Amino acid sequence: MAPIRNSAVVFAEVPSGYPEVGKHIKYVKDRTIDLDTVDTQGGIVTKNLVISIDPYMRGRMRAADKKSYSPPFELNQPLTNFFVGKVVKTDNSKFKIGQYVYGFGGYEEYTVHPKAQTDALRIISSEELKLGLPLTTWVGAAGMPGQTAYHGFYHIGEPKKGETIFITGASGAVGQIVGQLAKREGLTVIGSAGSDDKVKWLQTELNFDHAFNYKTADPKAELAKFDPLNIYFDNVGGDQLEAALDAAANYARFIECGMISQYNQPDSHGIRNLMAVVGKRLKLQGFIILDKAKDPSFQQEFYSKVPKWIANGELKVKEDVTKGLEQASEALVGIFQGKNFGKAVIQIADD
Ligand code: NAP
Repeated sequence: MAPIRNSAVVFAEVPSGYPEVGKHIKYVKDRTIDLDTVDTQGGIVTKNLVISIDPYMRGRMRAADKKSYSPPFELNQPLTNFFVGKVVKTDNSKFKIGQYVYGFGGYEEYTVHPKAQTDALRIISSEELKLGLPLTTWVGAAGMPGQTAYHGFYHIGEPKKGETIFITGASGAVGQIVGQLAKREGLTVIGSAGSDDKVKWLQTELNFDHAFNYKTADPKAELAKFDPLNIYFDNVGGDQLEAALDAAANYARFIECGMISQYNQPDSHGIRNLMAVVGKRLKLQGFIILDKAKDPSFQQEFYSKVPKWIANGELKVKEDVTKGLEQASEALVGIFQGKNFGKAVIQIADD
């Protein structure tokens, strides 16, 4: 077989503020791969079908010597992230041609996964495929963001019926699942998002008890109506974290999941009322969901429940799917301006 196209989105330059398409990340269409001769190093090759867009990718657009919890992207190499691909070549007895795998793949049409990297790939079982979820959902509500919502809400938030929770970034990949889990457990659910359409959807489709547009309403005044909060699920940091500190009950739990309002700011926003942590005896706990990938009991708990809840409609899922790697850079940059409505994901190929 002759070499075939293997177009990609590559990391081209380290940004200092918002990343720019064509400067910091670039679509490259003149790459190829020869599936007959490519060396799998005892691993597999996948045809990549869907790949996730996640806010933490901004932190990976950094200089190679700067330390953080996730590895930096390599200059002039495809971006990598959670994906679903189909096995098209295997030199490893664990995998069969035609299986669908979830794990880390490239923003490219085909990825070579050497043996050392295949341990981290999860085969989507035939029983799971029978649930009929779109492949995009396996990188969303049934993948890393769903795990983030589930672990953060249940294990850090320790929710109790009748409590009040505030969720920022509430219409996004993580927030929309947290809100539904909280309704399911009998909490009063308040959410914020960055457009009136998103706010309306939270109230009408997901039955949030209250939602507001943080760009046009004053978060402190909105939260004062529901004071005190027992749980804050923080996706954005900044002003809304300050507002949540003001409205918190004694012994409230702050689930520190992310602070997207800070990711493109060279200087971080100082939190002016942090003393509330002491006075109100708050628990603030950050977490990185990647740690849970190595926890078999968590994986079993999550995958035995959440995909079924999605399939039977107990959990609704809103996805913002962009077709084609050509459009991926715009879609990636767009999440930092709130352009996605729901979980952002790229459909690279149909099958
Ligand atoms: P997402 O909400 O689907 O997409 C990002 C959203 O953030 C945008 O649509 C936008 O929505 C909002 N946003 C962008 N800039 C903002 C700003 N300056 N201020 C306030 N909101 C802003 O993303 P996600 O995947 O669900 O992630 C949500 C958060 O969870 C992020 O902070 C992410 O880093 C974090 N996270 C953490 C872990 C972990 O292991 N700790 C894992 C996954 C995700 P609006 O229109 O509402 O502004």
